[in-house]
Amino acid sequence: MEQVLSPILLEGEFSKDRIDQLNDRFETSDPGTILRWVDNTFGTDAALGTGFGSSGVFLIDQIQKYQLNIPIFYLDTQLLFDTTYELRDTIEQKYGISIYRVSAGMSFREQAIRYGEELWKTNPNHCCYLRKVRPLRNYLSDKKAWITGIRRSQSKERKQARIIEWNEEHEVIKVNPVADWTGEKIWDHIHHLDLPYNPMHDEGYPSIGCIPCTQPTGDAKESDSRTGRWNGKGKTECGIHLPIQDFETNKEH
Ligand code: SF4
Repeated sequence: MEQVLSPILLEGEFSKDRIDQLNDRFETSDPGTILRWVDNTFGTDAALGTGFGSSGVFLIDQIQKYQLNIPIFYLDTQLLFDTTYELRDTIEQKYGISIYRVSAGMSFREQAIRYGEELWKTNPNHCCYLRKVRPLRNYLSDKKAWITGIRRSQSKERKQARIIEWNEEHEVIKVNPVADWTGEKIWDHIHHLDLPYNPMHDEGYPSIGCIPCTQPTGDAKESDSRTGRWNGKGKTECGIHLPIQDFETNKEH
């Protein structure tokens, strides 16, 4: 039987000890239990961010299954594949929900004038900062918890991900309910539950982001990696899960 969790009141930042205790408690919990704790603790002050990948699709389904009030959002760089927008529409229709669009707030024309054409080629970190990191920071500025679909098996940068973390960059509790899951386990659940997913995964794309920075690699659904993103750029993260490099002041903070 699933455990019923009582609310924990937020009093400023979570202490390190509190976070350690929560990780001990949740390390073997199923994602639904963790999401129900988030809902109980933070309510609509939490939000799930998704790029409509396999983990995101599964977590959205868990939020609906338990009828939680957690808002769901995505970062719209305006360079997503049509299949990604179609999947968003399919999910919204299936569950009768609205997924909040967080926009970069700057057109590509404006970006090209200010920073040069095709910034994703010349400086992808700057492009990701403008179109993903900064909009996320703005969106999370009035949130207390941020739920993500990252998994330890995806990349070396994600290997240390904990279920519950304090995220200094955005000053929120970061919750990774499937941190210990493999890609195979996620896909088993997607097929078992007959969930919608991006058909590009069947065409060799393990990880799907912006059009210029996403390539196919082969065994997409078997792969557990972020290969195929920013090929040849020495980059596997857009930056939202890394220390923020602020291109406005050219400092890390
Ligand atoms: S993934 Fe590519 S196009 Fe998208 S924001 Fe990052 S650099 Fe720009």
